[in-house]
Amino acid sequence: MAASGEPGRHWQEEVAAVVVVGSCMTDLVSLTSRLPKTGETIHGHKFFIGFGGKGANQCVQAARLGAKTCMVCKVGKDSFGNDYIENLKQNGISTEFTYQTKDAATGAASIIVDNEVKTLFNPAPAIADLDPQFYTLSDVFCCNESEAEILTGLKVGSPADAGKAALVLMERGCQVVIITLGAEGCVMLSQTQPVPKHIPTEKVKAVDTTGAGDSFVGALAFYLAYYPNLSLEEMLKRSNFIAAVSVQAAGTQSSYPYKKDLPFDLF
Ligand code: ATP
Repeated sequence: MAASGEPGRHWQEEVAAVVVVGSCMTDLVSLTSRLPKTGETIHGHKFFIGFGGKGANQCVQAARLGAKTCMVCKVGKDSFGNDYIENLKQNGISTEFTYQTKDAATGAASIIVDNEVKTLFNPAPAIADLDPQFYTLSDVFCCNESEAEILTGLKVGSPADAGKAALVLMERGCQVVIITLGAEGCVMLSQTQPVPKHIPTEKVKAVDTTGAGDSFVGALAFYLAYYPNLSLEEMLKRSNFIAAVSVQAAGTQSSYPYKKDLPFDLF
């Protein structure tokens, strides 16, 4: 809450512009020279704990760009859960609707909603028989190549393929479909521009692509909430740029850039 005007009066609620409903996961990462076989124990040479979960990743990226954010999720009533809530707070994210429970909580998909009309849906991890309502309720439906393949049954290996898959997803009722394509950028399609358009990006040498998609979705949520007058194409170009920054450093949230580290013309 932020106060303005006379004390006790004219209280204005500072509402979040980006509200993410999704998962908060603690990443337990072991670096090994190879994968163990079934039942085998092998030595690892490094171990670290990180903050992950697709919903929280997207929320952190939006927050680091300057969005007023809120994370709606449940974490366990344990040290990981406590640490996670602290991590959200440190990123300036509201934890008003971050709950703790003794029951296990998982998020099969994440939804990002802003405080007006728009719903940005990221169907990850994808399931072939996704409830049809997710398409009709999505203003913006954003997935990656493999998710597009699972959802449509089509092979997606190029921008042209992604365009075909996007047309199939659009027919299911989405207003806007975006399919991310790694170093190829993304493809967009909308009810107002029903011809698929490839939005390329400048390829960078990737150090670690984990969480690139979440960085992209978080950045897109930021632009939808704070720069709604930008064209979708421009939002996607900027989201491509931000996600490309994230792949040039190791880790998931640890690789997400802050506004201060990005070029001024992105804002
Ligand atoms: P993850 O599952 O690891 O989070 P993803 O498969 O969901 O990633 P990608 O489609 O691989 O997501 O990448 C998302 C975005 O990141 C791309 O649309 C692009 O903007 C950016 N990106 C990824 N790799 C590169 C790269 N090598 N060079 C430039 N941009 C990249």
